[in-house]
Amino acid sequence: MTRSQTVLLTAFFFVSGARAAGVAGPPAPAIRIYVYSSSDVRASLLEYSESEAARILRPAQLRLEWINCLPEASVQPCLSPHFPGEMILRLVPKAWPEVKPNVFGFADSSSGRPAAFVFYDRALSLQGANRFLFIILGRILAHEITHLLLPQEGHRSQGLMRARWTTSDLDFSNTDQLRLSARAIQLMHTQASRGTDAH
Ligand SMILES: [Zn+2]
Repeated sequence: MTRSQTVLLTAFFFVSGARAAGVAGPPAPAIRIYVYSSSDVRASLLEYSESEAARILRPAQLRLEWINCLPEASVQPCLSPHFPGEMILRLVPKAWPEVKPNVFGFADSSSGRPAAFVFYDRALSLQGANRFLFIILGRILAHEITHLLLPQEGHRSQGLMRARWTTSDLDFSNTDQLRLSARAIQLMHTQASRGTDAH
């Protein structure tokens, strides 16, 4: 079972992430991501958040296919069974009671339907000067997507896949602390290619 939590520390902790490396080769493999959310989340917020997640993950050269499943969009394909290689992200309105206060994301790859959960109320509480909600959500999404693609990798001491983040990681102007490692880039590309082949 692979479960990963993401926590936020108030103390400053920064280690420079590995520089992103490009991946040469054939067309970008696609990943289909279903995003389920409650009615109090605007579609435009989801779209901006997904753009930020895509920006963070761009070095992996994946083609992210977002399918937003807001309540009013509860139609096909949101109601369809999911195929291998697809993933599910759920914006949970309120963090579960058993979740520690500084945890704002959770990924579970233990079943055949990998899913990640982002606690919307926790993301809201992190807003501040230069910390916009779509940036916060997008960066959490990028972290959890990486977990789902690479469940065996877990957390790292640097970059996007650190287990513990600071508020500066969520600063709009700060784009350097959440890089993907060269290893993660290679593995994600390989894994996404397998997933694409599977359906
Ligand atoms: Zn994590």
